[in-house]
Amino acid sequence: MGNKTNPRYANGSLRTKNRRRLRAEERPCWICQLFGRNSHIDYSLPPGHPMSFEVDELIPVSRYWLGGYRTPEQCANDYRNLASTHRCCNQWRGNKTVDEVKAIARGMSPKKPDSDPLPQPWGL
Ligand SMILES: [Zn+2]
Repeated sequence: MGNKTNPRYANGSLRTKNRRRLRAEERPCWICQLFGRNSHIDYSLPPGHPMSFEVDELIPVSRYWLGGYRTPEQCANDYRNLASTHRCCNQWRGNKTVDEVKAIARGMSPKKPDSDPLPQPWGL
C-alpha cells in the first residue's frame, strides 16, 4: 500500500503534527490501560519495535462512518480521534471498535469470534 492510497498519509503535515503532539504528551497505551496492565510507552524505542509508540485511531479508519466522519481522511486526522498505543497492541486491535476492545477487556465474548490472543508484554 503506497502513501497515495492510505488516508492516514493524505495530509502529511497534519499527520506529522498530530504525531508530534501525541508524543509530546507522552500518553500511556490506552489498550493496556483497559486491560489493567503496565501501559507505559517508551517513546525512545525505534519504529517497528513491538513496544514502540504508534498513533491509533479510536474510530478505526476502515470504519470511519461509525464516528460520523464523511471520509477516511477526516477520521485519520481528527486529533480527538487519536490515541497512543504500543505497536503490538495496535496490531492486535486491528479494526476492532473501542467498545469491542472494552468488551474483550471485561472478559465478555467479543462480537467477532476471531479474537486473537493478547500480545505478550515484552518484559514490562
Ligand atoms: Zn499497550
